[in-house]
Amino acid sequence: MNAEILAVGTELLLGNIVNTNAQYIAKRLADIGIDVYFQSVVGDNSGRLYKAFELALQRADIVITTGGLGPTQDDLTKEIAAEISGKKLLLDDKALRMIEEYFSRMGRTMTENNKKQAYIPEASKVFYNYRGTAPGCAIEMGGKIIILLPGPPREMEEMFERSVIPYLSQFQEGVLASKILRVCGVGESKVEELLADLLDSQTNPTIALYAKFGEVSIRITAKAETEEKAKDLICPVENEIRKILGNHIYGEGDQNLEDVFGELLIKHKKSIAVAESCTGGLLAGRLINYPGISAVFKEGVVAYSNEAKIRRLGVSEATLSQYGAVSKETALEMAKGICIKAGTSIGISTTGIAGPGGGSIEKPVGLVYAGLCIDGELYSVKFNFTGKRQEIRERTVISVLDWARKILIEKLNSGKF
Ligand code: ATP
Ligand code: MG
Repeated sequence: MNAEILAVGTELLLGNIVNTNAQYIAKRLADIGIDVYFQSVVGDNSGRLYKAFELALQRADIVITTGGLGPTQDDLTKEIAAEISGKKLLLDDKALRMIEEYFSRMGRTMTENNKKQAYIPEASKVFYNYRGTAPGCAIEMGGKIIILLPGPPREMEEMFERSVIPYLSQFQEGVLASKILRVCGVGESKVEELLADLLDSQTNPTIALYAKFGEVSIRITAKAETEEKAKDLICPVENEIRKILGNHIYGEGDQNLEDVFGELLIKHKKSIAVAESCTGGLLAGRLINYPGISAVFKEGVVAYSNEAKIRRLGVSEATLSQYGAVSKETALEMAKGICIKAGTSIGISTTGIAGPGGGSIEKPVGLVYAGLCIDGELYSVKFNFTGKRQEIRERTVISVLDWARKILIEKLNSGKF
């Protein structure tokens, strides 16, 4: 089965809003194994909407629309869908009752227009709206299906999860299970190269790579008669991937880098403090995203000027004048300094040139050094990032956290820490 997503709304065409509905639906359809070959956007215009429906119905089994189910004149999607499928619009009592209840809950009076939303193409499956007024529906017609969903994302998403996924699952053979492995420290093309053999031979499970900012997600999806059997299919492929990528895989599912790092620190009771120059608090902020971090996170210092690096962290004037603020030597002294000042077992530092100015041939924009002090032992790393100032700062945080995580794991595994 394949689907086309048809987003309706002139606002989308004008660039006033971003088509996040299409992104959401596409992602969820991929999760349940329905292919999307086309996505389209059309304005609130009956002639063009009709044509968009015609075209979509020619090339897809399921056409899923969002938007244009509202009570006003420019909300046309349902009327055009009824016309193209040759269905009459009939009043759905339950939908009407729910709209009335919605208005009384909100303390608002319902207008005559809102009643229009309770009309549904005959013989369609109604998807009730638990967060707004417009119900959605599925119209089955000669082997094709039209699914109409409201435009507001919070209404659409709730309806999609509650009603559309179960509705679509009846057309799917078997059950799908998937697992996501999260990777940091290797780019998407490198991951692809490393997994080339597995990717070439994939059938069931399938393996898909998604690049996100600073990291890559690997989704393994298997189909079987039961969820249990699907999971059994995933297991050996996951093990194979883990063998190839090793500790570049930092987590699974919804886990973030800071969750994994925070959990590691808490589990092993290791306290931490950070000294930041170019990241200016982003690293501390990221760590503090993790709930429970207060058990191990002691302090973060933004030591932006040389003077602050000396006064707050005890970096030596000689190091700064000989090697400069953006140097391995300074990064190391910052990491060691914060460990001592905060009395923690781990200290991390960042110093770099975030741009746009301040770069030179020897020290270009994007050059970043990080320091790590674990139990008195010092490590440093050098990065060369590209991009705008904010991007460089955010990439620094991700890369430094991942780098520190890997060293921390090695240290813990060695049994000496
Ligand atoms: P309403 O009852 O609110 O009029 P509707 O089903 O008619 O809902 P639209 O009028 O098309 O939907 O859109 C309502 C709002 O939903 C838009 O102003 C926009 O904020 C949001 N929206 C619509 N379509 C999308 C989309 N494709 N992606 C993200 N947001 C959207
Ligand atoms: Mg509307």
